[in-house]
Amino acid sequence: MAKNDFAYEVDFPPYDECLAEGGFDSHYSMENAHWCLLGEIVSFEPFMRFRTIIRDKNGEKLVVAFYLDRDDNINPANFKVGHTLAIMNPQQRFFLDGTKGVRVEESHRVAVFPTSLKSLFGIGKSIVSDCGDRDDGKKMCHGCKKLGDTKDMMRCGACHYYYYCSKECQAKGWNELGHKQACKVVERANFKALVELDFDNHQGDFKFAVE
Ligand SMILES: [Zn+2]
Ligand SMILES: [Zn+2]
Repeated sequence: MAKNDFAYEVDFPPYDECLAEGGFDSHYSMENAHWCLLGEIVSFEPFMRFRTIIRDKNGEKLVVAFYLDRDDNINPANFKVGHTLAIMNPQQRFFLDGTKGVRVEESHRVAVFPTSLKSLFGIGKSIVSDCGDRDDGKKMCHGCKKLGDTKDMMRCGACHYYYYCSKECQAKGWNELGHKQACKVVERANFKALVELDFDNHQGDFKFAVE
């Protein structure tokens, strides 16, 4: 499975490019279209209705308002300022108070990744370049970028994405190349599901796991 690139704006559009409520788009309005908005949490208000403010890749701030069923819950503890919210198939909406944002009616449409938006983009870039699937089946060492056969390499036991040709390269990846921090994000089931989602062919709703 190819890995998705967060920089690809058809799949990961900024807020301004998302489908508008009641609008039409030749791509996003199609049946089974999927797109994901990524935004860093600026504030979170766990009151009557959950609301959070996020900032997208263009620096645009928007409201995310949750209108969940009584049986459908999100975990407020996940909504930490500075972490990144992913929202599947969000639509641009203007609220009655004049603010703009997104309305979320099902908790499985959102996931929070424990890292800033900037660092999430960095992790995604590294995954595409270091963990992308190759036609020849070889794996790239995260430490020295040499290619090798799977059987000759070690794999990160937590995320299973990164490969290493030696203990030295593993230590380099972990300490110098930041995998110690990145792995906490990459090992998450929701992160992998998003990175591996077949945006063009996935049938029906894509659902994040509830964390
Ligand atoms: Zn190496
Ligand atoms: Zn890892």
